[in-house]
Amino acid sequence: MKYIFITGGVVSSLGKGITASSIGRLLKARDFKINMVKIDPYLQIDAGTMSPYEHGEVFVTDDGGETDLDLGNYERFIDVSLRADNNITTGKIYKTVLEKERRGDYLGKTVQVIPHITDEIKRRIKNLGENYDITIVEIGGTVGDIESLPFLEAIRQFKKDVGKDNVLYVHVSLLPYIKTAGEVKTKPTQHSIKELRGIGIQPDILVGRTEVPIGEKIREKLALFCDVEKDAVIEARDAKTIYEVPLNLEKEGIGNLIVEKLKLMEIYHKKYDDSNKNIKETIKPDLSQWRSMVDRIINPLNEVNIAIIGKYVILRDAYMSIIEALVHAGAKNDTKVNIKWIGSEELDTKNYNEILDNYRENEVLDGILVPGGFGERGVNGKINAIKYARENKIPFLGICLGMQCAVIEYARNVCNLKEAHSTEFHEDTPHPVVDLLPDQVNLKEKGGTMRLGAYPAILKEDTLAYSLYGSKKVYERHRHRYEVNPKYHNILESNGLIISGFSPDGKLAELIELSDHPYFIATQGHPEFKSRPNKPHPLFDGLVKEALKKN
Ligand code: GLN
Repeated sequence: MKYIFITGGVVSSLGKGITASSIGRLLKARDFKINMVKIDPYLQIDAGTMSPYEHGEVFVTDDGGETDLDLGNYERFIDVSLRADNNITTGKIYKTVLEKERRGDYLGKTVQVIPHITDEIKRRIKNLGENYDITIVEIGGTVGDIESLPFLEAIRQFKKDVGKDNVLYVHVSLLPYIKTAGEVKTKPTQHSIKELRGIGIQPDILVGRTEVPIGEKIREKLALFCDVEKDAVIEARDAKTIYEVPLNLEKEGIGNLIVEKLKLMEIYHKKYDDSNKNIKETIKPDLSQWRSMVDRIINPLNEVNIAIIGKYVILRDAYMSIIEALVHAGAKNDTKVNIKWIGSEELDTKNYNEILDNYRENEVLDGILVPGGFGERGVNGKINAIKYARENKIPFLGICLGMQCAVIEYARNVCNLKEAHSTEFHEDTPHPVVDLLPDQVNLKEKGGTMRLGAYPAILKEDTLAYSLYGSKKVYERHRHRYEVNPKYHNILESNGLIISGFSPDGKLAELIELSDHPYFIATQGHPEFKSRPNKPHPLFDGLVKEALKKN
Protein backbone atom coordinates (compact mmCIF):
# COMPACT_ATOMS: atom_id res chain seq x y z
CA MET A 1 0.00 0.00 0.00
CA LYS A 2 1.30 3.38 -1.03
CA TYR A 3 0.42 6.81 0.33
CA ILE A 4 0.64 10.27 -1.20
CA PHE A 5 0.32 13.21 1.18
CA ILE A 6 -0.57 16.59 -0.24
CA THR A 7 0.15 19.76 1.70
CA GLY A 8 -0.42 23.38 0.76
CA GLY A 9 1.76 26.42 1.19
CA VAL A 10 1.55 30.23 1.28
CA VAL A 11 -2.19 30.76 0.79
CA SER A 12 -5.42 28.80 0.72
CA SER A 13 -7.58 28.35 -2.41
CA LEU A 14 -4.55 27.19 -4.37
CA GLY A 15 -6.38 24.30 -5.92
CA LYS A 16 -4.85 21.67 -3.66
CA GLY A 17 -8.03 19.63 -3.94
CA ILE A 18 -7.94 19.82 -7.73
CA THR A 19 -4.26 18.85 -7.70
CA ALA A 20 -5.00 15.87 -5.44
CA SER A 21 -7.96 14.86 -7.62
CA SER A 22 -5.90 15.24 -10.79
CA ILE A 23 -3.15 13.03 -9.41
CA GLY A 24 -5.87 10.54 -8.53
CA ARG A 25 -7.19 10.63 -12.09
CA LEU A 26 -3.70 10.15 -13.57
CA LEU A 27 -3.06 7.13 -11.38
CA LYS A 28 -6.49 5.69 -12.02
CA ALA A 29 -5.83 6.13 -15.75
CA ARG A 30 -2.80 3.88 -15.13
CA ASP A 31 -5.14 1.25 -13.72
CA PHE A 32 -4.32 1.63 -10.04
CA LYS A 33 -6.94 1.35 -7.36
CA ILE A 34 -7.15 4.73 -5.67
CA ASN A 35 -8.66 5.95 -2.44
CA MET A 36 -8.81 9.62 -1.49
CA VAL A 37 -8.93 11.21 1.94
CA LYS A 38 -9.46 14.80 3.02
CA ILE A 39 -8.21 15.97 6.37
CA ASP A 40 -9.91 19.06 7.77
CA PRO A 41 -8.18 20.42 10.82
CA TYR A 42 -11.30 22.09 12.26
CA LEU A 43 -13.00 20.98 15.47
CA GLN A 44 -16.36 20.06 13.96
CA ILE A 45 -17.15 16.36 13.68
CA ASP A 46 -18.28 17.00 10.11
CA ALA A 47 -19.14 19.84 7.76
CA GLY A 48 -22.89 19.41 8.36
CA THR A 49 -23.29 22.15 10.92
CA MET A 50 -21.33 24.75 8.98
CA SER A 51 -22.94 27.53 7.00
CA PRO A 52 -22.16 27.66 3.29
CA TYR A 53 -20.68 31.10 4.01
CA GLU A 54 -18.07 29.41 6.17
CA HIS A 55 -17.19 26.44 4.10
CA GLY A 56 -19.06 26.35 0.81
CA GLU A 57 -21.21 23.39 -0.10
CA VAL A 58 -21.66 20.43 2.20
CA PHE A 59 -20.99 17.38 0.05
CA VAL A 60 -23.09 14.33 0.94
CA THR A 61 -21.78 10.79 0.49
CA ASP A 62 -23.84 7.67 -0.20
CA ASP A 63 -23.49 6.59 3.42
CA GLY A 64 -24.84 9.92 4.65
CA GLY A 65 -21.60 11.69 5.48
CA GLU A 66 -21.78 15.48 5.44
CA THR A 67 -18.34 16.25 4.16
CA ASP A 68 -15.99 18.85 2.75
CA LEU A 69 -16.64 19.88 -0.84
CA ASP A 70 -13.27 18.50 -1.91
CA LEU A 71 -14.77 15.01 -1.64
CA GLY A 72 -17.02 16.11 -4.47
CA ASN A 73 -13.97 16.89 -6.59
CA TYR A 74 -12.45 13.54 -5.73
CA GLU A 75 -15.63 11.70 -6.71
CA ARG A 76 -15.93 13.63 -9.96
CA PHE A 77 -12.29 13.22 -10.96
CA ILE A 78 -11.83 9.58 -10.10
CA ASP A 79 -15.42 8.45 -10.51
CA VAL A 80 -15.90 6.60 -7.24
CA SER A 81 -18.30 6.84 -4.33
CA LEU A 82 -16.51 7.80 -1.15
CA ARG A 83 -17.67 7.37 2.42
CA ALA A 84 -18.10 9.66 5.42
CA ASP A 85 -14.83 8.29 6.82
CA ASN A 86 -12.90 9.63 3.85
CA ASN A 87 -13.21 13.03 5.50
CA ILE A 88 -11.18 13.13 8.72
CA THR A 89 -11.63 16.12 11.02
CA THR A 90 -9.94 17.11 14.26
CA GLY A 91 -13.37 16.67 15.85
CA LYS A 92 -13.61 13.02 14.79
CA ILE A 93 -10.09 12.26 16.01
CA TYR A 94 -10.58 13.87 19.42
CA LYS A 95 -14.02 12.32 19.84
CA THR A 96 -12.59 8.81 19.38
CA VAL A 97 -9.63 9.46 21.67
CA LEU A 98 -11.78 11.03 24.39
CA GLU A 99 -14.30 8.19 24.24
CA LYS A 100 -11.45 5.71 24.64
CA GLU A 101 -10.14 7.72 27.58
CA ARG A 102 -13.56 7.63 29.28
CA ARG A 103 -13.72 3.88 28.77
CA GLY A 104 -10.37 3.57 30.49
CA ASP A 105 -8.67 2.13 27.41
CA TYR A 106 -5.45 4.03 28.07
CA LEU A 107 -4.86 2.13 31.33
CA GLY A 108 -3.87 5.12 33.41
CA LYS A 109 -1.40 6.59 30.93
CA THR A 110 -1.33 10.35 30.34
CA VAL A 111 -3.30 10.95 27.14
CA GLN A 112 -1.36 13.28 24.85
CA VAL A 113 -1.36 14.73 21.33
CA ILE A 114 1.73 12.64 20.63
CA PRO A 115 1.29 9.67 20.54
CA HIS A 116 -2.45 9.28 21.16
CA ILE A 117 -3.88 11.83 18.74
CA THR A 118 -1.25 11.11 16.10
CA ASP A 119 -1.80 7.34 16.49
CA GLU A 120 -5.53 7.78 15.94
CA ILE A 121 -4.84 9.86 12.80
CA LYS A 122 -2.49 7.18 11.46
CA ARG A 123 -4.89 4.38 12.34
CA ARG A 124 -7.65 6.00 10.32
CA ILE A 125 -5.44 6.66 7.31
CA LYS A 126 -4.12 3.09 7.36
CA ASN A 127 -7.65 1.68 7.57
CA LEU A 128 -8.67 3.76 4.59
CA GLY A 129 -5.68 2.50 2.62
CA GLU A 130 -6.62 -1.16 3.00
CA ASN A 131 -7.65 -2.81 -0.27
CA TYR A 132 -6.28 0.06 -2.36
CA ASP A 133 -3.01 0.39 -4.28
CA ILE A 134 -2.60 4.06 -3.48
CA THR A 135 -4.25 6.36 -0.96
CA ILE A 136 -4.04 10.08 -1.57
CA VAL A 137 -4.40 12.21 1.55
CA GLU A 138 -4.94 15.94 1.27
CA ILE A 139 -4.17 17.95 4.39
CA GLY A 140 -6.53 20.93 4.57
CA GLY A 141 -5.26 24.36 5.51
CA THR A 142 -1.86 25.85 4.93
CA VAL A 143 1.47 24.69 6.34
CA GLY A 144 2.14 26.86 9.38
CA ASP A 145 -1.41 26.73 10.76
CA ILE A 146 -1.51 25.66 14.40
CA GLU A 147 -4.51 23.41 13.74
CA SER A 148 -2.77 21.19 11.23
CA LEU A 149 0.33 20.44 13.33
CA PRO A 150 -0.82 17.06 14.75
CA PHE A 151 -1.74 15.92 11.24
CA LEU A 152 1.62 16.96 9.81
CA GLU A 153 3.37 15.18 12.66
CA ALA A 154 1.30 12.07 11.96
CA ILE A 155 2.16 12.05 8.26
CA ARG A 156 5.82 12.61 9.11
CA GLN A 157 5.74 9.51 11.31
CA PHE A 158 3.93 7.62 8.57
CA LYS A 159 7.07 7.34 6.48
CA LYS A 160 8.82 5.59 9.38
CA ASP A 161 5.90 3.24 9.90
CA VAL A 162 5.36 2.07 6.32
CA GLY A 163 8.78 2.61 4.76
CA LYS A 164 10.20 5.36 2.60
CA ASP A 165 9.33 3.73 -0.73
CA ASN A 166 5.69 3.75 0.20
CA VAL A 167 5.22 7.41 1.02
CA LEU A 168 5.38 10.49 -1.15
CA TYR A 169 4.99 14.10 -0.07
CA VAL A 170 3.65 16.62 -2.57
CA HIS A 171 3.66 20.29 -1.68
CA VAL A 172 1.39 22.65 -3.61
CA SER A 173 2.50 26.23 -3.36
CA LEU A 174 2.02 29.67 -4.86
CA LEU A 175 4.50 31.21 -7.28
CA PRO A 176 3.27 34.80 -7.50
CA TYR A 177 3.98 36.81 -10.63
CA ILE A 178 4.99 40.37 -9.78
CA LYS A 179 3.96 42.50 -12.73
CA THR A 180 6.20 45.49 -12.02
CA ALA A 181 9.24 43.22 -11.80
CA GLY A 182 8.02 41.02 -14.64
CA GLU A 183 9.07 38.03 -12.57
CA VAL A 184 7.77 34.93 -10.89
CA LYS A 185 8.82 34.97 -7.24
CA THR A 186 9.98 31.88 -5.38
CA LYS A 187 10.49 33.32 -1.90
CA PRO A 188 7.07 32.55 -0.42
CA THR A 189 7.46 28.94 -1.55
CA GLN A 190 10.96 28.75 -0.12
CA HIS A 191 9.57 29.89 3.23
CA SER A 192 6.73 27.44 3.10
CA ILE A 193 9.09 24.53 2.43
CA LYS A 194 11.33 25.74 5.24
CA GLU A 195 8.35 25.60 7.55
CA LEU A 196 7.55 22.07 6.35
CA ARG A 197 11.13 20.95 6.83
CA GLY A 198 11.03 22.38 10.36
CA ILE A 199 8.31 19.83 11.06
CA GLY A 200 10.50 17.12 9.56
CA ILE A 201 8.87 16.73 6.15
CA GLN A 202 10.91 17.10 2.97
CA PRO A 203 8.61 17.23 -0.03
CA ASP A 204 9.39 14.94 -2.95
CA ILE A 205 7.39 16.91 -5.49
CA LEU A 206 6.70 20.61 -5.63
CA VAL A 207 3.64 21.78 -7.56
CA GLY A 208 3.91 25.49 -8.24
CA ARG A 209 0.68 27.34 -8.97
CA THR A 210 1.39 30.13 -11.40
CA GLU A 211 -0.32 32.46 -13.88
CA VAL A 212 2.59 32.42 -16.31
CA PRO A 213 5.09 29.81 -17.53
CA ILE A 214 7.87 29.59 -14.95
CA GLY A 215 10.87 28.84 -17.19
CA GLU A 216 14.05 26.88 -16.61
CA LYS A 217 15.73 29.37 -14.31
CA ILE A 218 12.92 29.39 -11.81
CA ARG A 219 12.75 25.60 -11.92
CA GLU A 220 16.44 25.41 -11.13
CA LYS A 221 16.13 27.94 -8.36
CA LEU A 222 13.22 26.11 -6.78
CA ALA A 223 15.04 22.80 -7.07
CA LEU A 224 18.10 24.25 -5.38
CA PHE A 225 16.40 26.15 -2.58
CA CYS A 226 13.67 23.66 -1.87
CA ASP A 227 15.88 20.60 -2.28
CA VAL A 228 13.70 18.79 -4.78
CA GLU A 229 14.92 17.32 -8.07
CA LYS A 230 14.47 19.64 -11.03
CA ASP A 231 12.06 17.31 -12.78
CA ALA A 232 10.05 17.19 -9.56
CA VAL A 233 9.26 20.89 -9.88
CA ILE A 234 5.87 20.78 -11.56
CA GLU A 235 4.35 23.84 -13.12
CA ALA A 236 0.61 24.12 -12.56
CA ARG A 237 -0.57 27.02 -14.63
CA ASP A 238 -4.12 28.42 -14.42
CA ALA A 239 -6.30 26.20 -16.58
CA LYS A 240 -9.34 26.92 -18.76
CA THR A 241 -11.35 24.36 -16.82
CA ILE A 242 -10.49 22.32 -13.73
CA TYR A 243 -10.83 19.19 -15.87
CA GLU A 244 -7.85 20.30 -17.93
CA VAL A 245 -5.57 20.14 -14.88
CA PRO A 246 -4.87 16.37 -15.04
CA LEU A 247 -3.86 16.77 -18.69
CA ASN A 248 -1.57 19.70 -17.87
CA LEU A 249 0.03 17.88 -14.97
CA GLU A 250 0.53 14.80 -17.13
CA LYS A 251 2.38 16.94 -19.67
CA GLU A 252 4.61 18.12 -16.86
CA GLY A 253 5.46 14.49 -16.19
CA ILE A 254 3.96 14.15 -12.73
CA GLY A 255 2.37 10.75 -13.50
CA ASN A 256 5.55 8.96 -14.46
CA LEU A 257 7.44 10.72 -11.70
CA ILE A 258 5.05 9.30 -9.11
CA VAL A 259 5.23 5.85 -10.71
CA GLU A 260 9.00 6.00 -10.39
CA LYS A 261 9.23 7.50 -6.93
CA LEU A 262 6.68 5.16 -5.38
CA LYS A 263 8.01 2.16 -7.33
CA LEU A 264 4.56 1.56 -8.70
CA MET A 265 5.84 -0.68 -11.51
CA GLU A 266 6.27 -3.37 -8.86
CA ILE A 267 2.57 -3.26 -8.05
CA TYR A 268 1.76 -3.19 -11.74
CA HIS A 269 3.88 -6.24 -12.48
CA LYS A 270 2.42 -8.13 -9.54
CA LYS A 271 -1.06 -7.27 -10.61
CA TYR A 272 -0.86 -7.93 -14.30
CA ASP A 273 1.89 -10.16 -15.44
CA ASP A 274 4.67 -11.55 -13.32
CA SER A 275 6.00 -13.74 -16.04
CA ASN A 276 5.80 -11.47 -19.07
CA LYS A 277 9.28 -10.03 -19.39
CA ASN A 278 8.19 -7.77 -22.22
CA ILE A 279 6.05 -5.70 -19.96
CA LYS A 280 6.47 -2.01 -20.64
CA GLU A 281 8.90 0.18 -18.75
CA THR A 282 6.28 2.82 -18.15
CA ILE A 283 2.54 2.62 -17.98
CA LYS A 284 0.75 4.69 -20.56
CA PRO A 285 -2.31 6.27 -19.02
CA ASP A 286 -5.56 6.07 -20.91
CA LEU A 287 -6.80 9.65 -20.99
CA SER A 288 -8.50 9.65 -24.39
CA GLN A 289 -12.07 9.94 -23.11
CA TRP A 290 -11.05 12.55 -20.59
CA ARG A 291 -9.31 14.55 -23.29
CA SER A 292 -12.33 14.59 -25.58
CA MET A 293 -14.55 15.64 -22.66
CA VAL A 294 -12.18 18.54 -21.94
CA ASP A 295 -12.18 19.50 -25.64
CA ARG A 296 -15.95 19.72 -25.60
CA ILE A 297 -15.85 21.93 -22.50
CA ILE A 298 -13.24 24.26 -23.98
CA ASN A 299 -14.59 24.44 -27.54
CA PRO A 300 -18.35 23.90 -27.34
CA LEU A 301 -20.60 24.19 -30.39
CA ASN A 302 -23.63 25.65 -28.62
CA GLU A 303 -24.46 27.91 -25.74
CA VAL A 304 -27.33 27.93 -23.33
CA ASN A 305 -28.32 30.14 -20.39
CA ILE A 306 -29.58 28.66 -17.16
CA ALA A 307 -30.66 30.85 -14.26
CA ILE A 308 -29.95 29.61 -10.76
CA ILE A 309 -32.32 31.19 -8.26
CA GLY A 310 -30.44 30.86 -5.00
CA LYS A 311 -29.89 32.40 -1.63
CA TYR A 312 -26.10 32.25 -1.55
CA VAL A 313 -25.46 33.41 -5.11
CA ILE A 314 -22.54 35.62 -4.09
CA LEU A 315 -20.78 32.50 -2.91
CA ARG A 316 -20.23 30.14 -5.80
CA ASP A 317 -18.64 27.44 -3.63
CA ALA A 318 -22.05 26.97 -2.00
CA TYR A 319 -23.28 25.50 -5.30
CA MET A 320 -20.13 23.74 -6.43
CA SER A 321 -21.67 20.38 -7.34
CA ILE A 322 -24.58 22.04 -9.16
CA ILE A 323 -22.21 24.18 -11.22
CA GLU A 324 -20.14 21.12 -12.08
CA ALA A 325 -23.21 19.04 -12.92
CA LEU A 326 -24.19 21.74 -15.43
CA VAL A 327 -20.67 21.68 -16.88
CA HIS A 328 -20.91 17.89 -17.27
CA ALA A 329 -24.32 18.06 -18.95
CA GLY A 330 -22.97 20.84 -21.16
CA ALA A 331 -19.95 18.74 -22.16
CA LYS A 332 -22.16 15.87 -23.21
CA ASN A 333 -24.30 18.18 -25.34
CA ASP A 334 -21.34 20.09 -26.76
CA THR A 335 -22.74 23.16 -25.06
CA LYS A 336 -21.42 25.89 -22.89
CA VAL A 337 -23.82 26.44 -20.02
CA ASN A 338 -23.77 30.07 -18.94
CA ILE A 339 -25.11 30.45 -15.44
CA LYS A 340 -27.16 33.52 -14.67
CA TRP A 341 -27.11 33.94 -10.91
CA ILE A 342 -30.29 35.50 -9.57
CA GLY A 343 -30.57 36.17 -5.84
CA SER A 344 -33.90 34.72 -4.74
CA GLU A 345 -34.64 37.84 -2.67
CA GLU A 346 -34.54 39.89 -5.85
CA LEU A 347 -37.67 38.03 -6.96
CA ASP A 348 -39.50 38.49 -3.66
CA THR A 349 -41.55 41.33 -5.12
CA LYS A 350 -44.80 41.80 -7.03
CA ASN A 351 -42.75 42.73 -10.10
CA TYR A 352 -41.05 39.38 -10.38
CA ASN A 353 -42.78 38.72 -13.72
CA GLU A 354 -41.31 41.87 -15.22
CA ILE A 355 -37.87 41.10 -13.85
CA LEU A 356 -37.91 37.60 -15.33
CA ASP A 357 -39.45 38.83 -18.62
CA ASN A 358 -36.56 41.22 -18.82
CA TYR A 359 -34.00 38.45 -18.30
CA ARG A 360 -35.78 36.48 -20.99
CA GLU A 361 -35.69 39.33 -23.44
CA ASN A 362 -31.99 39.64 -22.79
CA GLU A 363 -31.70 35.96 -23.63
CA VAL A 364 -30.28 34.77 -20.35
CA LEU A 365 -33.19 32.57 -19.33
CA ASP A 366 -33.38 29.34 -21.31
CA GLY A 367 -33.93 27.34 -18.15
CA ILE A 368 -34.45 27.81 -14.44
CA LEU A 369 -32.86 25.82 -11.65
CA VAL A 370 -33.94 26.23 -8.03
CA PRO A 371 -31.40 24.60 -5.74
CA GLY A 372 -31.62 23.39 -2.14
CA GLY A 373 -31.36 25.61 0.88
CA PHE A 374 -32.31 26.25 4.47
CA GLY A 375 -34.11 29.10 6.18
CA GLU A 376 -36.88 31.41 5.10
CA ARG A 377 -34.89 34.16 3.41
CA GLY A 378 -35.53 34.16 -0.32
CA VAL A 379 -38.15 31.39 -0.27
CA ASN A 380 -40.89 33.61 -1.73
CA GLY A 381 -38.60 34.61 -4.59
CA LYS A 382 -38.00 30.93 -5.34
CA ILE A 383 -41.74 30.24 -5.32
CA ASN A 384 -42.30 33.18 -7.70
CA ALA A 385 -39.59 31.94 -10.06
CA ILE A 386 -41.17 28.48 -10.13
CA LYS A 387 -44.61 29.94 -10.89
CA TYR A 388 -43.03 31.84 -13.75
CA ALA A 389 -41.29 28.71 -15.07
CA ARG A 390 -44.53 26.73 -14.84
CA GLU A 391 -46.72 29.35 -16.52
CA ASN A 392 -44.24 30.33 -19.22
CA LYS A 393 -43.17 26.75 -19.96
CA ILE A 394 -39.54 27.44 -19.16
CA PRO A 395 -37.51 24.27 -18.54
CA PHE A 396 -37.26 23.87 -14.79
CA LEU A 397 -35.30 21.69 -12.42
CA GLY A 398 -35.98 21.88 -8.68
CA ILE A 399 -33.64 20.35 -6.15
CA CYS A 400 -34.62 19.53 -2.56
CA LEU A 401 -35.92 22.89 -1.25
CA GLY A 402 -36.51 23.60 -4.95
CA MET A 403 -38.96 20.69 -5.05
CA GLN A 404 -40.60 21.74 -1.77
CA CYS A 405 -41.11 25.26 -3.20
CA ALA A 406 -42.59 23.77 -6.37
CA VAL A 407 -45.11 21.86 -4.23
CA ILE A 408 -45.98 24.99 -2.24
CA GLU A 409 -46.44 26.93 -5.47
CA TYR A 410 -48.66 24.27 -6.97
CA ALA A 411 -50.74 23.97 -3.80
CA ARG A 412 -51.28 27.73 -3.62
CA ASN A 413 -51.87 28.56 -7.24
CA VAL A 414 -53.36 25.43 -8.75
CA CYS A 415 -54.96 23.55 -5.83
CA ASN A 416 -56.21 26.86 -4.44
CA LEU A 417 -54.80 26.27 -0.96
CA LYS A 418 -53.92 29.94 -0.68
CA GLU A 419 -51.80 29.90 2.46
CA ALA A 420 -50.07 26.61 1.83
CA HIS A 421 -46.50 26.61 3.12
CA SER A 422 -43.76 24.54 4.66
CA THR A 423 -43.77 24.42 8.46
CA GLU A 424 -40.06 25.23 8.21
CA PHE A 425 -41.12 28.77 7.32
CA HIS A 426 -44.64 29.11 8.71
CA GLU A 427 -45.28 26.84 11.65
CA ASP A 428 -49.02 27.52 11.86
CA THR A 429 -49.87 27.43 8.19
CA PRO A 430 -53.41 26.09 7.62
CA HIS A 431 -52.00 23.92 4.81
CA PRO A 432 -48.68 22.38 5.81
CA VAL A 433 -47.94 20.83 2.40
CA VAL A 434 -44.31 20.43 3.46
CA ASP A 435 -43.80 19.25 7.01
CA LEU A 436 -41.56 17.39 9.44
CA LEU A 437 -42.12 13.67 9.77
CA PRO A 438 -42.67 12.48 13.36
CA ASP A 439 -39.08 11.19 13.70
CA GLN A 440 -37.73 14.68 13.09
CA VAL A 441 -39.99 16.55 15.51
CA ASN A 442 -38.27 16.19 18.87
CA LEU A 443 -34.66 15.95 17.85
CA LYS A 444 -32.26 17.55 20.31
CA GLU A 445 -29.08 17.39 18.25
CA LYS A 446 -28.73 19.21 14.95
CA GLY A 447 -25.56 17.51 13.69
CA GLY A 448 -26.00 14.43 11.50
CA THR A 449 -29.73 14.06 12.17
CA MET A 450 -31.32 14.97 8.83
CA ARG A 451 -32.45 12.40 6.27
CA LEU A 452 -28.95 11.84 4.94
CA GLY A 453 -27.34 9.73 2.26
CA ALA A 454 -28.58 7.53 -0.58
CA TYR A 455 -32.24 6.49 -0.61
CA PRO A 456 -34.07 4.61 -3.33
CA ALA A 457 -37.03 5.95 -5.24
CA ILE A 458 -39.40 3.87 -7.33
CA LEU A 459 -40.35 5.64 -10.53
CA LYS A 460 -43.70 5.44 -12.28
CA GLU A 461 -43.50 4.29 -15.85
CA ASP A 462 -44.71 6.73 -18.50
CA THR A 463 -43.21 9.66 -16.67
CA LEU A 464 -40.50 12.12 -17.64
CA ALA A 465 -38.46 10.90 -14.66
CA TYR A 466 -38.58 7.32 -15.91
CA SER A 467 -37.65 8.26 -19.44
CA LEU A 468 -34.69 10.33 -18.21
CA TYR A 469 -33.31 7.78 -15.76
CA GLY A 470 -34.18 4.80 -17.91
CA SER A 471 -34.79 2.61 -14.88
CA LYS A 472 -37.44 1.97 -12.27
CA LYS A 473 -35.41 2.06 -9.10
CA VAL A 474 -32.99 4.95 -8.68
CA TYR A 475 -30.85 6.14 -5.79
CA GLU A 476 -30.23 9.76 -4.89
CA ARG A 477 -28.45 11.31 -1.93
CA HIS A 478 -30.55 13.26 0.52
CA ARG A 479 -29.96 16.04 3.02
CA HIS A 480 -33.13 17.53 4.46
CA ARG A 481 -35.50 17.37 7.41
CA TYR A 482 -38.78 18.27 5.74
CA GLU A 483 -40.88 16.19 3.33
CA VAL A 484 -43.89 16.75 1.13
CA ASN A 485 -46.70 16.07 3.58
CA PRO A 486 -48.22 12.68 2.63
CA LYS A 487 -51.67 14.00 3.65
CA TYR A 488 -51.57 16.30 0.63
CA HIS A 489 -50.42 13.79 -2.01
CA ASN A 490 -54.02 13.15 -3.11
CA ILE A 491 -55.02 16.80 -3.46
CA LEU A 492 -51.85 17.58 -5.39
CA GLU A 493 -52.24 14.59 -7.69
CA SER A 494 -55.94 15.12 -8.33
CA ASN A 495 -55.05 18.66 -9.41
CA GLY A 496 -52.57 17.41 -11.98
CA LEU A 497 -49.21 17.30 -10.20
CA ILE A 498 -47.51 14.01 -11.04
CA ILE A 499 -45.60 12.40 -8.21
CA SER A 500 -43.33 10.39 -10.46
CA GLY A 501 -41.15 8.85 -7.77
CA PHE A 502 -42.02 7.49 -4.34
CA SER A 503 -40.00 5.94 -1.54
CA PRO A 504 -40.30 2.11 -1.80
CA ASP A 505 -42.95 2.08 0.97
CA GLY A 506 -45.01 4.51 -1.11
CA LYS A 507 -45.08 7.10 1.68
CA LEU A 508 -42.66 9.82 0.59
CA ALA A 509 -42.73 11.86 -2.60
CA GLU A 510 -39.25 11.72 -4.15
CA LEU A 511 -39.85 13.30 -7.55
CA ILE A 512 -42.58 15.47 -9.03
CA GLU A 513 -43.28 16.66 -12.56
CA LEU A 514 -45.92 18.21 -14.83
CA SER A 515 -47.26 16.70 -18.01
CA ASP A 516 -48.44 19.87 -19.79
CA HIS A 517 -44.98 21.38 -19.72
CA PRO A 518 -41.87 20.66 -21.82
CA TYR A 519 -39.62 20.10 -18.82
CA PHE A 520 -40.79 20.65 -15.28
CA ILE A 521 -39.23 18.24 -12.84
CA ALA A 522 -38.09 18.38 -9.24
CA THR A 523 -36.50 15.96 -6.83
CA GLN A 524 -36.23 15.69 -3.07
CA GLY A 525 -32.72 14.28 -3.46
CA HIS A 526 -29.53 15.97 -4.59
CA PRO A 527 -28.73 14.62 -8.06
CA GLU A 528 -25.81 17.06 -8.41
CA PHE A 529 -23.69 14.89 -6.08
CA LYS A 530 -23.76 11.97 -8.47
CA SER A 531 -22.95 13.75 -11.71
CA ARG A 532 -19.58 12.92 -13.27
CA PRO A 533 -17.71 14.65 -16.10
CA ASN A 534 -18.06 11.59 -18.31
CA LYS A 535 -21.46 10.62 -16.94
CA PRO A 536 -23.68 13.66 -16.49
CA HIS A 537 -26.75 13.21 -14.34
CA PRO A 538 -29.89 12.58 -16.42
CA LEU A 539 -31.90 15.36 -14.75
CA PHE A 540 -29.20 17.93 -15.63
CA ASP A 541 -28.70 16.44 -19.06
CA GLY A 542 -32.45 16.74 -19.65
CA LEU A 543 -32.50 20.36 -18.51
CA VAL A 544 -29.67 21.36 -20.84
CA LYS A 545 -31.17 19.42 -23.78
CA GLU A 546 -34.54 21.06 -23.33
CA ALA A 547 -33.05 24.53 -22.81
CA LEU A 548 -31.09 24.06 -26.05
CA LYS A 549 -34.33 23.73 -27.99
CA LYS A 550 -34.88 27.46 -27.47
CA ASN A 551 -31.94 28.24 -29.74
N1 GLN B 1 -34.66 23.10 4.23
C1 GLN B 1 -35.25 21.97 3.61
C2 GLN B 1 -35.31 20.77 4.54
O1 GLN B 1 -34.61 20.70 5.52
C3 GLN B 1 -34.53 21.61 2.34
C4 GLN B 1 -33.11 21.20 2.53
C5 GLN B 1 -32.31 21.18 1.27
O2 GLN B 1 -32.67 21.82 0.28
N2 GLN B 1 -31.18 20.49 1.27
O3 GLN B 1 -36.06 19.87 4.30
